[in-house]
Amino acid sequence: MWPGAGGVTKTLRGRSLQSESSETLDPKNWDEIRAQGHRMLDDMIDYAANIRARPVWQPIPDEARARFRAELPRESSDLGDVYREFVDFVLPYTTGNVHPGFMGWVHGGGSAVGMLAEMLAAGLNANLGGRDHIPIAVERQIVEWTREMFGFPAEASGVFVTGTSMANLMAVLVARTATLGSSVRQRGIEDDGASLVAYTSVAAHGCISQAMDLAGFGTDALRCVEVDSAHRIDVAALRIRIASDRAAGLKPFLVVGSAGTVDIGAIDDLAALSALCREEGLWFHVDGAYGALGILSSTLAPRLAGLECADSIAFDFHKWGQVPYDAGFLIVRDGEQHRQTFAAPAAYLRRETRGLAANSIWPCDLGPDLSRGFRALKTWFTLKTYGTEKLGAVITRTCALAGYLETRILAEPRLELLAPVQLNIVCFRYRCADASRVNGDIVMDIQESGIAAPSTTLLNGELAIRAAIVNHRTDTCDIDALIQAVLEYGARRTSGGDEPVLDIVPSPPLAL
Ligand SMILES: *Cc1c(COP(=O)(O)O)cnc(C)c1O
Repeated sequence: MWPGAGGVTKTLRGRSLQSESSETLDPKNWDEIRAQGHRMLDDMIDYAANIRARPVWQPIPDEARARFRAELPRESSDLGDVYREFVDFVLPYTTGNVHPGFMGWVHGGGSAVGMLAEMLAAGLNANLGGRDHIPIAVERQIVEWTREMFGFPAEASGVFVTGTSMANLMAVLVARTATLGSSVRQRGIEDDGASLVAYTSVAAHGCISQAMDLAGFGTDALRCVEVDSAHRIDVAALRIRIASDRAAGLKPFLVVGSAGTVDIGAIDDLAALSALCREEGLWFHVDGAYGALGILSSTLAPRLAGLECADSIAFDFHKWGQVPYDAGFLIVRDGEQHRQTFAAPAAYLRRETRGLAANSIWPCDLGPDLSRGFRALKTWFTLKTYGTEKLGAVITRTCALAGYLETRILAEPRLELLAPVQLNIVCFRYRCADASRVNGDIVMDIQESGIAAPSTTLLNGELAIRAAIVNHRTDTCDIDALIQAVLEYGARRTSGGDEPVLDIVPSPPLAL
């Protein structure tokens, strides 16, 4: 503390508690906004508590769309009126991923705890680019916990990002810098970089290919290796491909494994991939967008063996982790390589040993973002409030529910299972002539009915109904409703009939 700080502090802090300005955005009457805020909070808690009474999704009426083609508001409006517009025209027309009947894509369900934490974070309005404030310590705490979860060393670094698409792009950039040296940041990839090639499987997420594009290598520099019958990368084929690329004068530098593919939830043989990468001197990155957090489930963790040997892992707390959107994360084994990829000297980012500019390394040194929100807070609340055992049990249970759906499909002659159920994703179809077209219609019928929200995927050129069970709220009654809806709409689509769909009969909870 500087000399005389005590006296000065007393005087400067002695200013009036109320501002006289009328230009502030603060309310004149805090009690009014408090009452409005309590109402919003009650409504959103009711929304989560009674979500099953709502349709999963519903088509958006023109009137609702028109609301969002309005003119720029020049005048002020009453907060209550704006809120009413939200209740009438936003709240009813969301994707539906909060609803237990949502199984279309790998979307997390969120939680009331996460929602409350988001409110607190917005209240603090923290900017997590850097500086010495405790929100940075909260993010570092999550980095620490993530290291512990994945068995990464103390020098590993991590950073929150929007999602795994961004984290995968950043991992490609770290692998690039580790391979070509940090001069690549000034000179670009040059001739050396033009011969670099990367590998993943045909079942990998499209954002890997996009990352190669955005990083300047081009998508042709990504080899999509074939998969085995369980949709895992064929490691022998990968080895051959690497050898033939080397023989052709190219420079393999990166292998991206998948821990949970989007189509059927396959987990590559991560131990074999990591051994191959070590032998060949390649960067081993894992796209664990939703699957990596399976490490918290005692039944799934053994299937992720090898993950602890990755050079980097991209994953989302907002999928299986149930943290509200968005909360993507990148962890890099060698924190120094991570920093060398992104850290930039800038006068306004000057570091000090005391005051607000102390205590770097900051998150802005670990990715392209400077201004960043407090994603760490909702993640910290979620991990602390529920604990990793409970979160792991939720993940285990989504897989058990996928098993329950599989059992029901196998017992129903009108349905056909189209892929082995490996995790929490089930691909099946209604048996009939012209199955791809009819099943596509069935899925849209069900989505529009509001009963459930499955999606479709293509497996060996055949259209499959895909149910990805990610939401912690999903129960056997939701699976039963999906099956019943598929059978009903399937019968209607194939008989030309137009009878109403039967009421959905709930079944007892799943015993685990
Ligand atoms: C969801 C997903 C992604 C993309 O992650 P975002 O958070 O949506 O950017 C990438 N890979 C896999 C396997 C995914 O499931």
